[in-house]
Amino acid sequence: METAAVMQQLNSNAVDYSYRAPLALFGEFDKDSRKRRTRRVGSFTTIKVLADIFSFSVFSDGRRSVCTRTIELFERDLGMSESSVRRALKSEAAQKWVKCESKNAYEFKAEELINGAHYKYEAWMTRPIIINDNVLVLTHAEQAVLAYFNSEARRQPLEASSQDIADQLDMSLPIVQGAINKVCAKEFDLVHRLYIGKNGKSKSRYIINRALFRELGRAEKKKLKALQKQVQGTDDAAKSEDKRDIKSAVESELYARKRYREESAERVYTRALEDKEFKLTDEELKKLAPRLAFAEVRGSAGYMDLLDRQRELTERRRSALKRLNISEVELSEDFYIQCHKCGDKLFLPSGKMCGCFSRGAPPGEV
Ligand SMILES: [Zn+2]
Repeated sequence: METAAVMQQLNSNAVDYSYRAPLALFGEFDKDSRKRRTRRVGSFTTIKVLADIFSFSVFSDGRRSVCTRTIELFERDLGMSESSVRRALKSEAAQKWVKCESKNAYEFKAEELINGAHYKYEAWMTRPIIINDNVLVLTHAEQAVLAYFNSEARRQPLEASSQDIADQLDMSLPIVQGAINKVCAKEFDLVHRLYIGKNGKSKSRYIINRALFRELGRAEKKKLKALQKQVQGTDDAAKSEDKRDIKSAVESELYARKRYREESAERVYTRALEDKEFKLTDEELKKLAPRLAFAEVRGSAGYMDLLDRQRELTERRRSALKRLNISEVELSEDFYIQCHKCGDKLFLPSGKMCGCFSRGAPPGEV
């Protein structure tokens, strides 16, 4: 029951794996007078929740439905915290536009927004993605900028300055500039910036990498389809082909999370290494470890000295970290586990699939 909206999406060919965020959510901005008439309805997480409800209660072919979602499903599908979901559902905009039919059932009731334009979030934008062996995790603001490009720079190049984009999304210029740099980064190649306008005022030319968007969309679809087969739990699921699909979906998700954890820990470690004292003590400790082990096994006389040396270096390394405001656990991959229910293993000890594994988990297992 709780997964009704998900099932509808999974079962319908008419729906692609995206969320439509009506432009009105970003407030009204008059392009001619360059004046803002109304502000953005709230944070980008609020916008995502509203876009989700909108997409599942007003389908692109005009059909209407009720969006059935638990808080946990919002969290999982949109990559948000529980408190952000709750805040979004209590927001003024939600009070105004969303009718809560019953517990966990929502309907978007703003007729004036239904045929208007929208920015399109793809489901993959809300999760860590691997491109050219790099893991990309977009912030909520960066996702909004990418959704903007996905809609405005899709079919033909878009000419816009950073300030134009900031105005339309009701964002600050520095945040827009940071987001643009991230989505246009060469190693990811999501959006091509054909020339770079200076100082936020002059225009750049953008076009999205449609081939890559399609590929990421297909990968997402494949993952969800594989999960759907598992959801149905029919005899078909026993077919080896289906098993292979599920296996590869599981493998790629495991890989994505592992890369995310490794890279997050690596980033902190790299930052720590910029500190001379940390670098020195860290390297010394690494060199010391095998010597210490050797001395211990052999029972050699220098063992106690080495132990003292290790203690001293450990203490110095610890103070360096403290000075850098880095906690020891941040250097460990385990710190970045995304789901503490399954420890990123995707399966629970009972053998059931964990609800964190994308959408489409079997009802009752979330
Ligand atoms: Zn999990």
